[in-house]
Amino acid sequence: MKFHTLFFDLDSTLYPESNGMWVMIRQRIDLYMRDRLGLSPDEIPALRHDYFTGYGTTLRGLQAHYGIDPQDYLNFVHDLPLDDYLQPEPQLRQLLLSIPHQRWILTNSDLDHVNRVLNKMEIQDCFDGIVDVWALDPYCKPQREAYQRALELAHAPDPQGCAFLDDSIRNLAPAHEAGFFTILVGGEGSDPAVDRAIADIYDLRASVPELWDGFITSNNQ
Ligand SMILES: [Mg+2]
Repeated sequence: MKFHTLFFDLDSTLYPESNGMWVMIRQRIDLYMRDRLGLSPDEIPALRHDYFTGYGTTLRGLQAHYGIDPQDYLNFVHDLPLDDYLQPEPQLRQLLLSIPHQRWILTNSDLDHVNRVLNKMEIQDCFDGIVDVWALDPYCKPQREAYQRALELAHAPDPQGCAFLDDSIRNLAPAHEAGFFTILVGGEGSDPAVDRAIADIYDLRASVPELWDGFITSNNQ
């Protein structure tokens, strides 16, 4: 299949989980549940786990059970000093721009956070578009409808011509089932839903040279 479009997850995919930012976002989520909703710290980890597994994200679970204002939640959990975690990434910028295909962001995060992160890394102009949690509403990864929505928004009707990069096998699995070529970033790679595993985003050129050659085949096809 001629290859034409890449979808990139944002958090812990375009920057490494080891920079500590995602851990801080999780702490802000706990803080939100404690301070805004008055939940006891004892029950928060189990609830967060239930919402994550049952609804895809804590946000969707809190919307369903507490009717929270999603914008207020997103502002709160992303209220972080990004300078502490991110810096300009000229090499990543070069790498992304060298990929001769459409490049999209596909994230359960929101546009404000995405833009702040991309600006801080100075890679904001490397993407043709952003599919965020607002664009996916009422769905989110790993719900099947989220990937369908992303394909429609990117005007990419055939998933066989698309690759999807994410640090979560859970998020890769439905994409793989739909026919995307799936790339696990920064994780262990022996799962049928993973076509290729790479150590980090900088490993893309060496580990998935097909992206530059133009042809690619998922083990699902
Ligand atoms: Mg991620």
